[in-house]
Amino acid sequence: MDKLIHATAADGTVRVISAVTTGIVAEAIRRHGTSPTVSAALGRMLTGTLLLGSTIKEFDRLTAKIDCSGEVGGITAEATKIGTVRGFVKNPIAEPPPKANGKFDVSGIVGDGNFVVIREAGFEIGFRPEPYVGSVPIVSGEIAEDFAYYLAKSEQIPSAVLLGVLLQNSEPFVAASGGVLIQMMPGANDHIVTMIEDTVSRAPHVTELVKEGAGPEDLARVALGVIDFEVLDERPVSFQCTCSLEKAAGMIAALGEDEIRAMIEEDKGAVMNCGFCNETYSLATSDIERLLGENR
Ligand code: ZN
Repeated sequence: MDKLIHATAADGTVRVISAVTTGIVAEAIRRHGTSPTVSAALGRMLTGTLLLGSTIKEFDRLTAKIDCSGEVGGITAEATKIGTVRGFVKNPIAEPPPKANGKFDVSGIVGDGNFVVIREAGFEIGFRPEPYVGSVPIVSGEIAEDFAYYLAKSEQIPSAVLLGVLLQNSEPFVAASGGVLIQMMPGANDHIVTMIEDTVSRAPHVTELVKEGAGPEDLARVALGVIDFEVLDERPVSFQCTCSLEKAAGMIAALGEDEIRAMIEEDKGAVMNCGFCNETYSLATSDIERLLGENR
């Protein structure tokens, strides 16, 4: 099962969040039918958003978006405090040739554009002040670097981010996925910051470790090197959407009577698709007639 931990180091001046997300990425690939390069891009985005989203308050929602000119067209991921994440891409089948080093050309399908983070407060309890929106240009397109750049520029939190997805040729197409987010809080000692930057730059690929059975605590250890840390909590995390047949029916019920009658008479029912999870909901004419009856 996928897990995420929160940890602190250097007397609370360094915050560490790490997660194993193999199951989450497998579920996203299964639902969206993404090509290998898009799977790597979406998987990194889901993991990064989950790590960042775990720092928000209860009832809040965090969305990270890449609006880009590259072939993937755009990537959106949304996470909650309780450890659920969902996401999608505009073009699931973009597949350029691999880079010279054999790696998936994620930055190649992302191209230029903006990296946007939207923080919505009180979302689940219906209290919705203006969302906070932060946006920076895409600096790398490899996604981990873009999360780090966003945090440094837009939220003034110097950060190091490691994200990785290791694919395989057979189902579930993901051998390993995981990530680490390290944030230097105010008061962090320069020497510690340099040590962490140095360790992270030489850290082995997180996916190789996850494939060998490493958990989130092992990933934090690799990213921090010799620096001691304390795990504050551990929680399960999962790909989970908020859509349902009831919500789909509710959206139809909210339409005007003429529109609903057209669905019954002309379309002989309604089919709705959730962009976030690619789930399809079908309502028969009898279901829609019942909604019309409840509407009066
Ligand atoms: Zn959905």
